[in-house]
Amino acid sequence: MPIQSKHPETLAVHAGFRDAPGTHSVAVPIHQTTSYQFESTEHAANLFALKELGNIYSRIMNPTCDALEQRVAALEGGAAALALASGQSASTYCVLNLCEAGDNFVTSTDLYGGTWNLFANTLRQMGIEARFVDPSDPEAFRRAVDDRTRLFYAETLPNPKLNVFPIAEVAAIGRELGIPLVVDNTAAPVICKPLEMGAAIVMYSATKYMGGHGTSIGGIVVDGGNFDWEAWGDRFPTLNRPDHSYHGAVWTEAVKPLGPIAFIIRMRVILLRDIGAALSPFNAFQLIQGVETLPLRMRQHCENAMLAARFLRDHPKVSTVIHPSLQDGEARRRADSAFKDGFGALVGFELEGGAEAGRRFIEALEMFYHVANIGDARSLAIHPATTTHSQLGPEDQLASGVSPGYVRLSIGIEHPDDIIADLSQALEKV
Ligand SMILES: *Cc1c(COP(=O)(O)O)cnc(C)c1O
Repeated sequence: MPIQSKHPETLAVHAGFRDAPGTHSVAVPIHQTTSYQFESTEHAANLFALKELGNIYSRIMNPTCDALEQRVAALEGGAAALALASGQSASTYCVLNLCEAGDNFVTSTDLYGGTWNLFANTLRQMGIEARFVDPSDPEAFRRAVDDRTRLFYAETLPNPKLNVFPIAEVAAIGRELGIPLVVDNTAAPVICKPLEMGAAIVMYSATKYMGGHGTSIGGIVVDGGNFDWEAWGDRFPTLNRPDHSYHGAVWTEAVKPLGPIAFIIRMRVILLRDIGAALSPFNAFQLIQGVETLPLRMRQHCENAMLAARFLRDHPKVSTVIHPSLQDGEARRRADSAFKDGFGALVGFELEGGAEAGRRFIEALEMFYHVANIGDARSLAIHPATTTHSQLGPEDQLASGVSPGYVRLSIGIEHPDDIIADLSQALEKV
């Protein structure tokens, strides 16, 4: 039996797996297999009919992925989870699980660039409309809703402004209207628990902090099991209408014996079956190694980031520092209510000298890696004006919150003295 605990440090090491049947292996084995032998024709029939849960084919389920799913569901306080090939497939599936052509969803404007492109272009080409609203006004979500609105979508701690999303406020508006809030919590695992604040679904790019080693791309979606899809039957045809691709199953009915997991079961047996963004067992194994130290690493990431933010705030060549620990007013109130034990490890700052100063700073860094990633155990830096935002004109860059002298840091778990020493020597060369 898996160990029960309310503490993330314990769950990260024990939840979802104790030892392997047969071998008693303590580490989660890598089940590098495509298929699983049925015990009998009756067993096979029961598995296909969902009368019994069990392994059929690794596109749809795998024991190594299952251990990761159970562990992350336990950490998140959710009912069940689904591991996927990337964070991008996780956000795509969250929308496709509820929206069909002609439907819409309301999303915060403050999004990861990949998610923005997916919503503004690719999903639009499929006939699904993303309605972008300003997250500083939670009521904007209510105003954008109509009969074909299927979900709200937001990121807990979006780049580059790092204003914490009003999760509790927008989730409450959604619950009045029968609309689930999906939260991308990639930048704030452990320190933020969106399901406790009223969100229905949480998703991650597991590529980032969850793995932490920077070796493996992956994504995961957690079903809170806390949203009544049946009570709002007309809003969720994909979950409440007979599914002809699965012998007429109505998902909210069919999964009742298994628990309140209609959303995640449908994502697995329909979207993963048909589109197939499956996480490989090897990457699931790698991500499990990361998750085991996630609570410990987050503590060090957050502490180091706070020290780096303070150092930058007091530096004469830095005009502005962006980190939730340095915010005040409404932004700080939201950060305090959403976060436990830290403010995240992303730190933005602006250099007095504009784009040229940004370039010189990045070139001068010795320990920080210059990469388009976040959440690695190593400290990372990027100058968006010359990379991720270089395709935007100067006005769009400013609108996105990225000025020419803006630098983004993802603070790692090295000793804080070494982090600050590298920032300090690079600032001297600006
Ligand atoms: C990286 C990232 C994604 C995309 O995840 P991949 O694993 O790279 O596909 C989505 N959301 C956020 C906030 C991210 O940082």
